[in-house]
Amino acid sequence: MDCLFCKIINGEIPSKKVYEDDQVYAFYDIAPIAPVHFLVIPKQHISGAAAVTAENSAVVAHIFEVIAKITKDMGLDGGFRVITNNGDDAGQTVKHLHFHVIAGKKLGWSSEQGD
Ligand code: 5GP
Ligand code: ZN
Repeated sequence: MDCLFCKIINGEIPSKKVYEDDQVYAFYDIAPIAPVHFLVIPKQHISGAAAVTAENSAVVAHIFEVIAKITKDMGLDGGFRVITNNGDDAGQTVKHLHFHVIAGKKLGWSSEQGD
């Protein structure tokens, strides 16, 4: 399958790993929008949040466990934000479910995110 994040998971495209287990891979975003910006993705190809079902949703719960662990390990006690973009209107550019974790500064809540 011609999926950028599947290629990152299988090592075809290099990435800077943050965390990995049998279900999940986490790596730094190539174009960070905050001092800390990494992505957490399921190893199984799911095209986005709209493709989460009763059959595959367990990995989403696991991803949030992983996010809690990583952010604790990184000492992000000041807070962090988790974002997933789904579809063109939300600006989803890679059609493989991914959760952005951003932190390291006081984050605004702009019209870009809300309007
Ligand atoms: P989206 O816009 O779909 O929510 O997020 C896709 C994210 O993937 C963007 O923040 C973009 O910077 C990141 N990205 C795109 N290509 C690569 C890549 O080859 N390596 C890494 N590490 N991140 C990438
Ligand atoms: Zn994929």
